[in-house]
Amino acid sequence: MKQPFLSAIPIIEAIEKAGFKAYFVGGAVRDYLLKKPIHDIDIATSATPDEVKKIFPTTVDIGIEHGTVMVIFENETYEVTTFRTESEYEDFRRPKDVAFVRNLREDLQRRDFTMNSLAMDKNGTIIDYFDGKTAMSKKLIETVGSADERFREDALRIMRAIRFVSTLGFKLEDRTRLAIEGNRHLLEKIAVERITAEFEKLLLGKARDEAILLMVQAGIYEHLPMLKSHRDGLMLLSSFPLENLNIEEMWSALLIACNVSAKEADAFLRKWKLPVKRIKTVQHIMKSVLLLKEQGHWTSLHLFHSGLSVAISAEKVFSVITAKQQDVASVKNAFAALPIKGRDELQATGRDLLQWSAKPAGPWMKETIATIENAVVEKKLTNDKQAIKEWLKQWEMI
Ligand code: ATP
Ligand code: MG
Repeated sequence: MKQPFLSAIPIIEAIEKAGFKAYFVGGAVRDYLLKKPIHDIDIATSATPDEVKKIFPTTVDIGIEHGTVMVIFENETYEVTTFRTESEYEDFRRPKDVAFVRNLREDLQRRDFTMNSLAMDKNGTIIDYFDGKTAMSKKLIETVGSADERFREDALRIMRAIRFVSTLGFKLEDRTRLAIEGNRHLLEKIAVERITAEFEKLLLGKARDEAILLMVQAGIYEHLPMLKSHRDGLMLLSSFPLENLNIEEMWSALLIACNVSAKEADAFLRKWKLPVKRIKTVQHIMKSVLLLKEQGHWTSLHLFHSGLSVAISAEKVFSVITAKQQDVASVKNAFAALPIKGRDELQATGRDLLQWSAKPAGPWMKETIATIENAVVEKKLTNDKQAIKEWLKQWEMI
């Protein structure tokens, strides 16, 4: 076994010492077998949350009603969840009630895909009741049990399936795919936040182009926020070389491919309940890309007003959507060569303007500062207090 599992073995041993069973489960076991980086370690146990809390000195209640306790051990956190079933589902959403059980198999049976239903004991022995290893060796995503039932129980699994296509580069097993097509409309009953979390992982996967294409071919996009009328845009997006784009750049590329303007992007992304900060960044990148498209090349003013980080993102997105060679280094160099990088570097302030001019304070000051700033950025004016004063006089601005 390897890290981070090795560090977690004492947790399993402590639970076993108290007379219960405990196993590594979920994505960590899957990723370990696929030799991929492991994020968080999930442990499943026959102990109830109260019993888990008695075993460890430091725990946090993070989802007691679902049976999850966070155990803090040697500065690491581990989610320890009681074996449970989710037999009754209401509204195709979350389970109505969770029932704790003492048996591992029942817990693994409620999980979405066979590759996610593996468990591993503290010696590294894999427990594989549903043939997850075979599916993984064929690079297939298949549900545990009846695909139709599993998607009807929780339609979020449709999004999860597609995001695993993207992140793992796997294909959908035939029955799983058919059941997705048959139940895709149930996605409309799922909380947007849950869909967005999976969709953003999909947007960042190494096989994102394939996953986006599949989303179109299987008709899933028709049931996602704001995407119903964007079949062609999504097809176009899937044809782009999308590697290396981060999440804000991906949203920008998606919106541009779908012909959504930077202004319309706000309403669009609010439907996805993205944080306001992310929406603003996406809009800045989009505006910058659209201007770059219009002008065909970077200008000093455009670079300055974008700021370095947005300019780099815009260069990346622009090169992706126009199949042009990406040249981030040139953008960085051109930015570094700007006479000023921000307004705070300007050698004249509003106070100077008031001193130099007989005019009372007013909106003219902001406009004048903007004019000075642009002239300095374009190297029509030296960034020097005296030079700025002379220049303003010459143009009768003070
Ligand atoms: P990641 O590596 O992105 O965390 P993951 O498979 O670990 O992927 P999680 O959301 O962390 O995904 O879920 C942990 C485990 O819980 C899954 O591997 C799966 O066994 C189970 N699971 C998660 N969501 C569902 C669901 N909607 N239905 C059934 N089982 C689920
Ligand atoms: Mg996980």
